[in-house]
Amino acid sequence: NEGGACDGKAGSVVVPEIKFTKLFINGEFVDAASGKTFETRDPRTGDVLAHVAEADKADVDIAVHAAREAFEHGKWPRMSGYERGRVMNKLADLMEQHTEELALLDGADAGKLLLLGKIIDIPAAVQMLRYYAGGADKIHGESLRVSGKYQGYTLKEPIGVVGVIIPWNFPSLMFFLKISPALAAGCTVVVKPAEQTPLSALYYAHLAKLTEYVVQAGIPDGVINVVPGFGPTAGAAIASHMDVDSVAFTGSGEVGRLIMEASARSNLKTVSLELGGKSPLIIFDDADIDMAVELSRLAIFFNKGEVCVAGSRVYVQEGIYDEFVKKAVVAAQNWKVGDPFDVTTNMGPQVDKEQFERVLRYIDLGKSEGATLLTGGKPAADKGYYIEPTIFADVKEDMQIAQDEIFGPVMSLMKFKTIDEAIEKANCTKYGLAAGIITKDLNIANRVSRSVRAGTVWVNCYFAFDPEAPFGGYKMSGFGRDQGMMAIDKYMQVKSVITAVPDSPW
Ligand code: NAD
Repeated sequence: NEGGACDGKAGSVVVPEIKFTKLFINGEFVDAASGKTFETRDPRTGDVLAHVAEADKADVDIAVHAAREAFEHGKWPRMSGYERGRVMNKLADLMEQHTEELALLDGADAGKLLLLGKIIDIPAAVQMLRYYAGGADKIHGESLRVSGKYQGYTLKEPIGVVGVIIPWNFPSLMFFLKISPALAAGCTVVVKPAEQTPLSALYYAHLAKLTEYVVQAGIPDGVINVVPGFGPTAGAAIASHMDVDSVAFTGSGEVGRLIMEASARSNLKTVSLELGGKSPLIIFDDADIDMAVELSRLAIFFNKGEVCVAGSRVYVQEGIYDEFVKKAVVAAQNWKVGDPFDVTTNMGPQVDKEQFERVLRYIDLGKSEGATLLTGGKPAADKGYYIEPTIFADVKEDMQIAQDEIFGPVMSLMKFKTIDEAIEKANCTKYGLAAGIITKDLNIANRVSRSVRAGTVWVNCYFAFDPEAPFGGYKMSGFGRDQGMMAIDKYMQVKSVITAVPDSPW
């Protein structure tokens, strides 16, 4: 009953067929209790793509209740890790079979490149799920020596109901970044996708339901619940819910604070926050300039700059600065902006009108702060939310465009002389999510890697992500780590069990 997804057309813009628009609670697609819906729009045109059921507090209550029941009385936490992993792998198989539809949904909902959706976003989401499927039977406690006539061990137990609140820039990857380790741990989840991009999350809910038909015991009802809606209503209801045990959040710093506050005021649920960034890319004199230009372009213009780890501050050492600038401008001008479904396009539209206007406001601010606009700086089309790849030079550390996360295709270029100066400047924002270093000198690479206060450092590469590599922020980029086996610990409690050994021989 899946059918082909790509059969609608609006002008020359391909629009995918949209099958799932209701809330997914306890294994069923249902209307919102209020009957309300909201629009999700296609950023290529600004047209309405679908009307999606709008969850509010009442729906979150129902979803949390379903997740609680599934946790307390259902099979999922009681299955062996091996079995959970097996079912998760089946979901991954189904995702692989539906890669095209999923990439189309994210493409039309978020303005993401269709080709990259097929070869990066969806496969990376699959890989994330498979990584944690493999981890589900490798969750171990420790045995404890304990002094006196006792012995002990630790039990790792699933934390319970996990609330997941995610942004719109990588709808598929974010979904699986959070739910995969939670599922491996044996938790149940209530996911609120971003209001801009609810469609693929609902499709994943459908695929989760389908696992029942391909394995004898699939993902039971109530284990994955998806409640699209707005932040201050559905999101806030999750964050302040008395029966949610943990919230995993990715998004802005402002909302991150609200989530922590809500936890503090409600049941002190654990919180993990992946927040924004203003990541530096530091290019040293000995770098291969063409490689550096290519990496710097990718670092800021990939996914239209809507990347929390975007290399938005580019520091270039003085010896190669002039040559680098010339080549970087040409590279930006060759970065093709257009329909994200066209395979020759490098960059699609910003996700929505609000982000589009926000980025343009920052570009105006950069000009008024005295930075030199080298290229770009305006909308790239009459219709839709397209912006030209933009480069500012002569940016100073105290300018707002050097401090704030713009979340758009805007590079700030700065010159430096010494290694110490580069380190100091790289560290001079409130963020600490990622950093890049380009040099052939191992000593420079090692020294700067250790000096930069960031959760991920890429040397002679950028965006090299892998499920094995823990990912998260220093400073105001948040706390807690996604990816890696340690992410499973966010979704577990550790229990110490101490047993008396009165007849211990020692
Ligand atoms: P946002 O923080 O406004 O929204 C993120 C999610 O939080 C959405 O699902 C939203 O509905 C929800 N939300 C909003 N208000 C809420 C509230 N009061 N209570 C609970 N949930 C609420 O972020 P955005 O503007 O949609 O996304 C852009 C920002 O997200 C960027 O500026 C960037 O800083 C950040 N971001 C960070 C990462 C990362 O991995 N660190 C990734 C993507 C985006």
